[in-house]
This record gives sequence, structure tokens and C-alpha cells, in this order.
Amino acid sequence: MDTDERWHWGRSEQDGRVHAFRGGGDTVETACADEVSSSDLIDTHFGVRCVHCLMTVGDQITNRVSA
Ligand SMILES: [Zn+2]
Repeated sequence: MDTDERWHWGRSEQDGRVHAFRGGGDTVETACADEVSSSDLIDTHFGVRCVHCLMTVGDQITNRVSA
């Protein structure tokens, strides 16, 4: 599996929501197409998840298992 395709979850200090993101570097792109600075991301699942990220990741999982 290509590790770049895997989603990670982290809480953004910018809006307090837990987003799905991938990539690395100074800024990462979230599944809801926001850009978050890596220094603003907290490595935790604790908090309110971003609904847009949940749906985007959920759709991809559904496509993968039903393919
Ligand atoms: Zn999000």
C-alpha cells in the first residue's frame, strides 16, 4: 500500500476540529481541502471530528471495499 494514500487524524489548533490529513512538511492538506500548518496539528483523536473529513474518508473506504 502506498503510504501517501493513508489518512491520519489530528486536531487542528486553528478550528479545534479533528481532521483527516495526509502528506507531510510544513503544511498538510486535509480531506476537507483545508490547509493546516503542521505545527498547528495535535496528534490526537480526541475532540469533535470534522464531518466533511469523515464523509470523504468514509466514501473512499466504501469504494475500496466494494471494488
Ligand atoms: Zn476536515
